[in-house]
Amino acid sequence: MTEMTDGNTTAPTEELSVKNMTAADYYFDSYSHFSIHEEMLKDSVRTESYRRAIMAPGICKDKIVLDVGCGTGILSMFAVKAGAKHVYAIECAAIIDQAREIVRANGMADKITLIKGKVEEVEVPEKVDVLISEWMGYFLMYESMLSSVIYARDKWLKPGGLVLPDKCTLYINAIEDADYKAAKIDWWGNVYGFNMSCIGDIAISEPLVDTVEGRQVVTNDAILKVYDIAHATSADMVMEDSAFTLVAQREDDIHAFVTFFDVQFTQSRVRFSTSPACKYTHWKQAVLYLTDALRMREGEEIHGTLSCRPNARNPRDLDIDVKYEFKGLYQETSGEQKYFMR
Ligand code: SAH
Repeated sequence: MTEMTDGNTTAPTEELSVKNMTAADYYFDSYSHFSIHEEMLKDSVRTESYRRAIMAPGICKDKIVLDVGCGTGILSMFAVKAGAKHVYAIECAAIIDQAREIVRANGMADKITLIKGKVEEVEVPEKVDVLISEWMGYFLMYESMLSSVIYARDKWLKPGGLVLPDKCTLYINAIEDADYKAAKIDWWGNVYGFNMSCIGDIAISEPLVDTVEGRQVVTNDAILKVYDIAHATSADMVMEDSAFTLVAQREDDIHAFVTFFDVQFTQSRVRFSTSPACKYTHWKQAVLYLTDALRMREGEEIHGTLSCRPNARNPRDLDIDVKYEFKGLYQETSGEQKYFMR
């Protein structure tokens, strides 16, 4: 899951079908257009991992399955292929109309019940053995769909039921990124001879979702937080001063912190990662630029904390706060930067 616009502010009215939705409707309901689903389905790291996890022996066979946010219905259809007894698939966006046609076209209409609406507002007719969902956003928590998964789990999952995926780990490292920082941030200081650096100040406060190359990474990866999805509560939506230590693996300049995550289906023994060291996924990485670069020598350490919480006005957005301290041979410094992901 991932989209930069808010998928849920105003749901389209009942009569509105994908065929007559305008750009204004899509702005509030970005998951209705097929292009976002195309991007997710073509992310083979993501989709193949879900397929392997759902199809692993003993996960879905003869089970009642709930698919939270089914989109095109892909995960529900994997579950049927894996031998599920029945699948309930909930989706609030208009893409559910296509999911219904897709399920029918693939001869699974008797096995999959599609339920249109928000997870928080619909009813599922029975308790389920397995909950599957692809809820992860940029920076893992952007869009905060995890709260809907927690809600569904607590309401419909039988005691001892499975949650797929059941473990997510958020990481941070630090990178050299002089060229891109110059192009995205410093560039605003001189635009056709004009000083537009006030926009640069806004740009630096927004995490940049983009691909980082493995060779740019200067430090180790440090864990910020491990999420146990089978037991997480809404309190886990907030990360408060999570401490990290990054050790330089070589001498280089540091221009940004980078976050990424991995996703585990422990019962199925499937894991995938959105690390810069791994194959491309549509989540890419989230880059947090520092106002001032740091020069690190091999073995020197940055000590920091990161906080991240849903924005008070729009809980789908994220407020992120990074504090760091660095005592190196060339430089001793500390800083705090606030970021807003919208
Ligand atoms: N399962 C699909 C789609 C994943 S994207 C796949 O793997 O390809 C997440 C989907 O969840 C989106 O289609 C979005 O519209 C839906 N969604 C997000 N929050 C929801 C909620 N509260 N209730 C119902 N659907 C939701």
